[in-house]
Amino acid sequence: MKSFFFCGIRVDKVDFSEIYDSIQDDASVYVVKQVITLNPEIAYDSWHNEELHKALFDASFVIPDGTGIVMAAKRKGYYLQRQPGIELAEYLLSKGENLSFFFYGAQPGVAHKAVENLKKRYKFKLAGIEHGYSSEAEALKKIQESGADVLLVATGAPKQDLFIYRNKEKLGVKLALGIGGSFDVWAG
Ligand code: UDP
Repeated sequence: MKSFFFCGIRVDKVDFSEIYDSIQDDASVYVVKQVITLNPEIAYDSWHNEELHKALFDASFVIPDGTGIVMAAKRKGYYLQRQPGIELAEYLLSKGENLSFFFYGAQPGVAHKAVENLKKRYKFKLAGIEHGYSSEAEALKKIQESGADVLLVATGAPKQDLFIYRNKEKLGVKLALGIGGSFDVWAG
């Protein structure tokens, strides 16, 4: 995997298919693989937020979301495509016949509607749903009990990314990614 550095933050040149393949690697997974979609706002926040800086350093994949990152890479001779989290999530859902997904985030009811719409397009397995305004402890418990392979967290950046980072060893999922307002988009 090739990487370049944007203001001291590693950004990976990786295809969605490589991220999907990485889920298949491990027969038993104790530490979740975290994907962070980087935009200039998160990069800026990380200069003032040590925990976010550590989360970025520790993430399995940091992918470029936002033209600012893509343009900065180009100036250094790296040609990256924008890879918004919502597109990675849809890629995984489209390959998800044998993967189960937990949807955590957004206002009550929104994730249910999003799943209803997504089910018309993709054949993924649903492991569970939790809205984004219950306590994080409650959400963590439900995720742990769900046995999900992939966790989609849509509670906004950087809250979602820090939730995954803080609970990496407890979540019990194989891959987790923060996807901002995607549930609202899917719910329509
Ligand atoms: N949200 C949530 N819990 C919170 C705060 C926000 O579930 O405590 C949800 C909110 O309802 C919305 C999403 O997080 O669905 C944030 O979307 P936004 O587009 O602001 O996120 P960004 O893409 O900017 O990270």
